[in-house]
Amino acid sequence: MIFILKFDPHIHSVYSCDSRSTPEDILKRAEEIELNAIAITDHNTIKGSQEAIKIAKKENKDIIIVPSIEISTDKGHMIGLGVSEYIPSGLSAIETADMIRDAGGLIIIPHPFSRYRHGLFCNTNPNMIVDGVECQNARYIFGHSNKKAQKLAYERRLARIGASDSHFLKSIGDSYTEVNTKGQDDVDGILKAIRHRRCKEAGKGTSNFLIAKEVFVKKVLKRYPKREDYVKGI
Ligand SMILES: [Zn+2]
Ligand SMILES: [Zn+2]
Repeated sequence: MIFILKFDPHIHSVYSCDSRSTPEDILKRAEEIELNAIAITDHNTIKGSQEAIKIAKKENKDIIIVPSIEISTDKGHMIGLGVSEYIPSGLSAIETADMIRDAGGLIIIPHPFSRYRHGLFCNTNPNMIVDGVECQNARYIFGHSNKKAQKLAYERRLARIGASDSHFLKSIGDSYTEVNTKGQDDVDGILKAIRHRRCKEAGKGTSNFLIAKEVFVKKVLKRYPKREDYVKGI
């Protein structure tokens, strides 16, 4: 029997400063909903990802944590999947992609055609060399940009990624990637499977109601502490 891993490769923690989820709570929630693997992809920092890896190791958790980071390039966002080192923001897409490769990671383009969320392919050539694109980002309102990404993945035979892009605990796993690791259930097995396109998007997405509620809490009630509040003491 082929075992397909459920992997949510795009989750934000408190280190992103636009999420209130701690790495510890993210792990608990991921276990609760029976994900097999996750990646914490904070904006321009690997702190959340590294902290989750430490906790999982210490507590001997049965979940795979893929080290990662979401980097703000000068033209939009890019995820370095499998990356354990810091990669600076503000560089060109090509420079950033080279650094991800040098760090042994995969280049994944999150929300590639979503203009208001800094989708890279709104501003740069979608023919650049990447490993995969998010075909299903859970945070969409109409789904138009996901459809465009699905078409691109099909035409260019890119890895099809599904992800929650979670900024609050309840939305973790709303979309995810089904990965066929062929039995190699570890970080390398997941990266290898994605490199060989043995993956596809799945899940129902996050409800527009919950997204609206989150935006209200963030923008109107301003209940989000600054990143410095968390970085202290690490
Ligand atoms: Zn993003
Ligand atoms: Zn993100």
